[in-house]
Amino acid sequence: MAQIAIYPGSFDPLTKGHLDIIQRAARIFDHVIVAVSNNPAKKPFFSLAERIQMAELVIRDIPNADVDTYSGLLVDYLKARKARILIRGLRVVSDMDYEFQIASFNRRMYKEVETVFLMPDEQYTYFASSLVKEVCRRGAPAETFVPAPIARLLRKRFSPKK
Ligand code: ADP
Repeated sequence: MAQIAIYPGSFDPLTKGHLDIIQRAARIFDHVIVAVSNNPAKKPFFSLAERIQMAELVIRDIPNADVDTYSGLLVDYLKARKARILIRGLRVVSDMDYEFQIASFNRRMYKEVETVFLMPDEQYTYFASSLVKEVCRRGAPAETFVPAPIARLLRKRFSPKK
């Protein structure tokens, strides 16, 4: 049976760190689904459509990757996709507290699920979407932090209205 791995996240915006994790997962598993969360309670800066577009732009070169969106419980989405592998990225030890809690909850609700933690290349360990938004809003070059096609979208969003 093909091993489907789900990589869920807000991707607000999708950074080079996220892409690094997608590429790693795609080398390990038969199929990777980048699942963009539709959780209005999180009040994302980029709309769901924009975040999906970002993910689609970067997976164009990865033949065994796809983009989807989900709302509600992640484990219900996993079951619906007949997937048992959940990918999460670990940047620093401080990510672990939160990730351990979520992985434990998910396993409690779906005992077959296996959360697989992948580490990005160390040059991306400090790339957090929140920080990227903040510095790009203040004029930092977006292409340092996000893949080139996404940098164009960021510049458009952050460029002062004429
Ligand atoms: P969420 O709101 O679900 O945490 P994020 O988009 O912030 O969504 O992150 C999705 C996943 O990607 C999480 O597992 C997070 O730890 C991981 N991640 C975020 N930034 C990076 C990065 N720079 N390198 C590797 N993994 C990352």
